[in-house]
Amino acid sequence: MANEKNENSRDLNAFAETSTPDLEIPYDACILEGPPDPCALVIIGASGDLTSRKLVPALYNLFLRKTLPDPFLILGCGRTEMSDQSFRDRMKDSLLEIGGGDLGQWDSFAPMLHYQKVQYDDLSSYDALSQKLKELTQGQEMEGNLIFYLAIPPSLYKTTAQMIGKVGLSREGKDGGGWSRIVVEKPFGRDLNTAIELNRALQEFFEERQIFRIDHYLAKETVQNILMFRFANAIFEPLWNRRYIDYVNITASETLGVEYRAGYYEQAGVIRDMFQNHMMQVLALTAMEPPTLFEADRVREEKVKVYRSLRPFPVDALQDHLILGQYHPGTIDGRRVPAYREEPGVSDDSLTPTFAMMKVFVDNWRWQGVPFYLASGKRLAEKLTQITIQFKQVPHSMFRQTLGDTIKANRLVLGIYPEEKITLTFQTKNPGAVVCLRSVTMDFNYQQSYTGPLLDAYEKVLLDCMMGDQMLFLRQDGVELCWDFLTPIIEECETCGGMADMLHPYEAGGWGPPAIEAFPNKYYMQK
Ligand code: NDP
Repeated sequence: MANEKNENSRDLNAFAETSTPDLEIPYDACILEGPPDPCALVIIGASGDLTSRKLVPALYNLFLRKTLPDPFLILGCGRTEMSDQSFRDRMKDSLLEIGGGDLGQWDSFAPMLHYQKVQYDDLSSYDALSQKLKELTQGQEMEGNLIFYLAIPPSLYKTTAQMIGKVGLSREGKDGGGWSRIVVEKPFGRDLNTAIELNRALQEFFEERQIFRIDHYLAKETVQNILMFRFANAIFEPLWNRRYIDYVNITASETLGVEYRAGYYEQAGVIRDMFQNHMMQVLALTAMEPPTLFEADRVREEKVKVYRSLRPFPVDALQDHLILGQYHPGTIDGRRVPAYREEPGVSDDSLTPTFAMMKVFVDNWRWQGVPFYLASGKRLAEKLTQITIQFKQVPHSMFRQTLGDTIKANRLVLGIYPEEKITLTFQTKNPGAVVCLRSVTMDFNYQQSYTGPLLDAYEKVLLDCMMGDQMLFLRQDGVELCWDFLTPIIEECETCGGMADMLHPYEAGGWGPPAIEAFPNKYYMQK
């Protein structure tokens, strides 16, 4: 008996030994494997919103966390006249404005920031830029490593990339030393042709492995966790297919309207703004097959296979697969908000959609016949991003005498915003002599039992660029396949006022146009 007990306690110890190392991994080891290569980060368009609200705050946080390369420098560029000092002051003011945390170490960070005036289409500006880089990096052991971050309007991407290439700054050292990378913000093109054209311009001077097409959405921890959830756990994957899943819903709703970005949004609309990138990426992560290795190209290859399997939209029966809407006045959080057409910078007869819901099919063995409902819109009731996996009902109800034929089916929700969580809903019996079922949920919250540092999406993408890890960046074939899928819809809707018939008004603060109810038997903004 005593022996038995000892055996058992050894077993328990063995379990403890195998389970504790995970907990003992230092948090920083999860943030970064080792320091990134020394490099210079050149931000083109550094006088703009993205630089002051996202990039520099992210870089400052990385500095506070001691995860920046050493040595490292940031060279901001733009047409605006600024000295190094005024650029530094501007960035500090912006951090103060957005409440960017502890500024106690700003004075140690600020000397890394430099500024150089450039005219985007003037070659001599880039010669001067090259010269400035030489001066700044002299004696710094940066091995010529360069990142060019295009934080400028998309219309300037092509010219700027070509200018960088023409002055030789895209060239890399022969033996792997001295790399050069270019980061391109979304949107990547406005349709298939412009995406191909932009890519051609980039590839004149940069190879695919040097090009980082950002979708910062993918850098959110919970979005990455979709893959961990699916492929690091054995119990869900056997159910993750047409036999058990009734439909999948991907929702990204916003309460904000177009804000100060009407100029951009009037040209883009919700399909270009949300679907071509974020929604299609989340769809791919939800539907893809397991890659053989968690490695950039294998993961991107599996995503591309999903895009290749998308059933083309039936453009002659669009209304059965697509609902578009535009917000009208309404109330959000007790505040009256205007219609889209009343927003500053929006034309009063605008046909730009601010809401879309589409029914998409992935024609492959795993997903045949399972609809994916993708929905996104502005000025909706809540800011919410989540994936809902709706399982099928039990094949036969043994409780039908008391409960009828239908029992609520299981539902798995992967919450991305506001709560980063996983919720599984299932049926259980209410206490008592009568058979009464109720739905209960099992919740897991990502913050639970983790007190370590978190990486913001821009911190993650900047680190990945420095490390040369393209896992979270879009590959050109994926971008083209997404455009290929969406362009016919955009064309159909944008020509001859086709949009006017398709565009349903919806009240701000609601869940979208009433027309969504017509999608057979399915809900969409499920909580
Ligand atoms: P801005 O509109 O703030 O422009 C950035 C800089 O580009 C400006 O400061 C200006 O610098 C220059 N610029 C602007 N318009 C013109 C023009 N017509 N001709 C020449 N130069 C111009 O852009 P953001 O910083 O908001 O965004 C940069 C990129 O990042 C865009 O492609 C955007 O789509 C993308 N993006 C932005 C996000 C954000 O939160 N802001 C989020 C996701 C993507 P100067 O006058 O000094 O030359």
